[in-house]
Amino acid sequence: MARIYNFSAGPCTLPLSVLESAQAEFVEFEGAGMSLIEMSHRGPQYDRVHMEALARLRHLLSIPDTHDILFLQGGATLQFAMIPMNLSVPGKAAAYVQTGAWAKKAIADAKRLGETKIIWSGADCDFTRAPAADELTIDPDYAYVHITSNETIGGVELFEWPDTGDVPLVADMSSHIMSAPIDFTKVDVVYAGAQKNLGPAGLTVVIIRKDLLERANEEVPAYLAYRTHAPKDSMYNTPPVFAIYMMNKVLEWVEAQGGVSAMDALAQARADLIYGVIDGSDGWYRCPVEPRSRSRMNVFFRLPSADLEKQFIAEATAAGMVYLKGHRAVGGCRASMYNAMPIEGAQALADFMVAFQKKNG
Ligand SMILES: *Cc1c(COP(=O)(O)O)cnc(C)c1O
Repeated sequence: MARIYNFSAGPCTLPLSVLESAQAEFVEFEGAGMSLIEMSHRGPQYDRVHMEALARLRHLLSIPDTHDILFLQGGATLQFAMIPMNLSVPGKAAAYVQTGAWAKKAIADAKRLGETKIIWSGADCDFTRAPAADELTIDPDYAYVHITSNETIGGVELFEWPDTGDVPLVADMSSHIMSAPIDFTKVDVVYAGAQKNLGPAGLTVVIIRKDLLERANEEVPAYLAYRTHAPKDSMYNTPPVFAIYMMNKVLEWVEAQGGVSAMDALAQARADLIYGVIDGSDGWYRCPVEPRSRSRMNVFFRLPSADLEKQFIAEATAAGMVYLKGHRAVGGCRASMYNAMPIEGAQALADFMVAFQKKNG
């Protein structure tokens, strides 16, 4: 089988060695006479995998003792509701930074559940940039501040995180978690669907400051309250065992690559290649996003016409580079390059872009 370069925004490419390792032990897990997905999640074999995944995540991201790690389901989407359900405070507004399509979805749920204030919006620049830290005024009376630190659809990354003082800062890091170190002295809650940088779909990782676990009132149903999961190591109910097992393997692979700093360097190298072609194309390729907000994970770009974009995507697909079509809401082209995308994939796309312009420009 020839592996193609998969630029999907998620679920997305995973390391081949991870897939092969899972395949090799799929039917029988460690001599148990059964597969991992058939055994009790309360048994010793799964327990070891589960605890290993928690420990690996903590070690790789240098998560301090002040924060708990939760393995949940429902995607990052369920967090749009769980955040306000757990962190809102009567009489206080929840503050949201509206950087694009995913922030809008988070805001829509927050509005259903309480008082919500949009403290910055990219609407007047068509969501082509993230705010600088000094553009955000943080009222110490906010219940929390929510950011979407990488907007997967618009390709906008927030590199300068606001200092929110004593107000909890919550970040949807779904599409760039594990691509750079996280400063846990600044952020109180991080959440991410696993399927973009951590593993397959079906698992959501939440990293939360321990003293926020108790904020939810008694009316919040058991599964939806963070405090239910933390003391049980996320085994309150049946966890998504296969997704956690796969994430554990992906994290093992990240360790072998050199950890988060290696992922960081690789993300920069891949992004430099593609943005380099865009900026060197005399305006033939255009990235609508302001240079200082350009996402390293999701590169959004346009060609001179919709017809050329169609042709570009078709020819790239034929050349073994797939899912380069932009999100249906914004059109254009998008190259999503998550941790498991090798530098060779970005180089192949960069070469293809140069050749395509030469032929059609
Ligand atoms: C993909 C994505 C989501 C939604 O994730 P699901 O796991 O599909 O619910 C939310 N936020 C961001 C930034 C995303 O990229």
